[in-house]
Amino acid sequence: NADIAMYRAKSLGRNNYQFFAPELDIQAHRRMSLELQLRRALEKGEFELFYQPLVTIDDGAIVGAEALIRWRHDEVVVSPNEFIPLAEDTGLILPLGEWVIRTAAAQASRWRHEGHELSVSVNLSPRQFVGQDLVTLLCSLIDAGEFEPGRLYFEVTESMVMGDLAQTQKIMGALRDLGIKFYLDDFGTGYSSLSYLKRLPIDGVKIDRAFIKDIVHDQDSREISSAIVSLANTLHLAIVAEGVETPLQRETLLNMGPMIIQGYLASRPVPASQFGLLLESGRIDWTK
Ligand code: C2E
Ligand code: MG
Ligand code: MG
Ligand code: MG
Repeated sequence: NADIAMYRAKSLGRNNYQFFAPELDIQAHRRMSLELQLRRALEKGEFELFYQPLVTIDDGAIVGAEALIRWRHDEVVVSPNEFIPLAEDTGLILPLGEWVIRTAAAQASRWRHEGHELSVSVNLSPRQFVGQDLVTLLCSLIDAGEFEPGRLYFEVTESMVMGDLAQTQKIMGALRDLGIKFYLDDFGTGYSSLSYLKRLPIDGVKIDRAFIKDIVHDQDSREISSAIVSLANTLHLAIVAEGVETPLQRETLLNMGPMIIQGYLASRPVPASQFGLLLESGRIDWTK
């Protein structure tokens, strides 16, 4: 009977509505309040950059630092995975990303004045790449003496360079001319279109932690890593292995040739002051 069917659909609809509505409301509310909190956090200076060393696999020399953002909020340290996606969605990533670049560049020049030769890398969101005048920002940093060409790396992902290739080439080319270098981050997890490696001014690849994790026991992971290393060597690209946690992982990678490693084995990401102590000690001692 058509009337009954109609009635059922309506009541079902109403029930669904009643069931889902408060839920949606809470989610939207959470999102809005988180967005508001993020904006305030930027004004209040609650963001902080942690730094994780990039070290040569053989002698443990610290050659670089990756800047990784943290949010100190109500005495807890919030991970970027919790807020970067929302910052990207809302556009807040533009002022936030600018703050990251300025802060990391200033820290790099401070370390250099203290006599430490290292590069600092920052992660870029796709949106920053197109929505922000990075060239003008970097020119102002160069004028202020806050960045030495060749010492600042931008970490980009394959998804970022996937879009408009001509536009990407133009921006990356202009940045390269200013002395910016590029790492292709999380390499191997994305589309890994090898043509990008030739067409874009990439200086190095960071092998994703997903491959390093099982490198000791899983032959596939080992072969993929080894293939990435050969490819990078052929193209004269620097190699960074991400997420190296154990001495055995380091030994396995050591057999593949020279590279840079980053991971808990050397150090977790630490506040700038603590990173300064690592620099004073000079290198990571693998025998400890
Ligand atoms: P990513 O750029 O791939 O950074 C590496 C992540 O791996 C960091 O997580 C780091 O703490 C973690 N990691 C390093 N070594 C090890 C290890 O040995 N074991 C394990 N399990 N993890 C390790 P984190 O700091 O939570 O950052 C997560 C992601 O958030 C980053 O991935 C990056 O994509 C993004 N991110 C961080 N800071 C920024 C930023 O300033 N701007 C933007 N746009 N994204 C950022
Ligand atoms: Mg990175
Ligand atoms: Mg990565
Ligand atoms: Mg990542």
